Amino acid sequence: MNCPVCNRPLKSEKSIERGIGPVCAQKLKDRENEPPDGQLSFEEETVLVIK
Ligand SMILES: [Zn+2]
Repeated sequence: MNCPVCNRPLKSEKSIERGIGPVCAQKLKDRENEPPDGQLSFEEETVLVIK
């Protein structure tokens, strides 16, 4: 079984169970915590609604 993100073979049983390598799992986790580009913050959305 290969990691679907980087396409490298999964070596540890844990990685195979999760279906993703540890490095890629961490990268995805970091990406979830970052706000996507162009998304308005809560304050900006509130300002737009008031206008
Ligand atoms: Zn990977």
